[in-house]
Amino acid sequence: PAEVLKKPEWIRVKAGSASSRFYEIKNVLREQKLHTVCEEASCPNIGECFGKGTATFMIMGDKCTRRCPFCDVGHGRPDPLDAEEPKKLAQTVAALKLKYVVVTSVDRDDLRDGGAQHFVDCITAIREQSPATRIEVLVPDFRGRLDKALAILKTAPPDVMNHNLETVPRLYKESRPGADYAFSLNLLKRFKEEVPGVPTKSGLMVGLGETDEEILEVMREMRAHGIEMLTIGQYLAPSGHHLPVRRYVHPDTFKMFEREAAAMGFSHAAVGAMVRSSYHADQQAHAAGVT
Ligand code: SF4
Ligand code: SF4
Repeated sequence: PAEVLKKPEWIRVKAGSASSRFYEIKNVLREQKLHTVCEEASCPNIGECFGKGTATFMIMGDKCTRRCPFCDVGHGRPDPLDAEEPKKLAQTVAALKLKYVVVTSVDRDDLRDGGAQHFVDCITAIREQSPATRIEVLVPDFRGRLDKALAILKTAPPDVMNHNLETVPRLYKESRPGADYAFSLNLLKRFKEEVPGVPTKSGLMVGLGETDEEILEVMREMRAHGIEMLTIGQYLAPSGHHLPVRRYVHPDTFKMFEREAAAMGFSHAAVGAMVRSSYHADQQAHAAGVT
């Protein structure tokens, strides 16, 4: 078995602030049977995010057709799409008066459009009920159906288009089986070409075995593909059955990545050990001029 690295002192899970807002959101989610990444992935920032009224919803079920060994989402044969989900999601966003929502999904390689129409239906439903709410989508790679997915997404674009590269190309085979680095970069480039007014965003995890220089190289390639917003956070293994943490990146190194990101021209970079793709997404979007 792989050696388990000791967690350094800067990896601290903040105690969930038990604000009334936090419980209000949890209760509504339970009633509506909606999934959030915040809860499913046991995100360390949940107290802070729910307390502020930010959440990341996971649509199209909780079973993924892929099996990335860093990921804690369940795998298996997905359930049929719930046609009521866009409406339920929109009602929840409105009831909770969320100002900024992130909508993401499992990978649905079983659907002919990869789920693009369902994303659009969710965006449209939220906009109808909450026109002032900003919507970020964090999409799967739509591999094998990119043209179709882009044509659909263009009909009701989000406020921010996010797709995570997750790791450096050398580690794709181990970490993202079924995905392709160049394909994912191209997805964001193509979206930017088709909907130039919408900022594109991507995220990386560190601690999977990459070097600092490899991270910097991916950041350069992101900029070369028009990506404007960046997140980098520390990978934490969800369990002993997931990929092991190969290193804990020091706060000084995160600061270096942040400086480099600014120098490369990212409009916003959220970089730090506890940063997740949707952490402070509202503030990032604000910095990028979305809100
Ligand atoms: Fe949810 Fe993202 Fe906040 Fe984590 S960082 S609690 S996933 S909104
Ligand atoms: Fe998890 Fe996404 Fe990989 Fe599915 S495609 S296993 S949800 S990281």
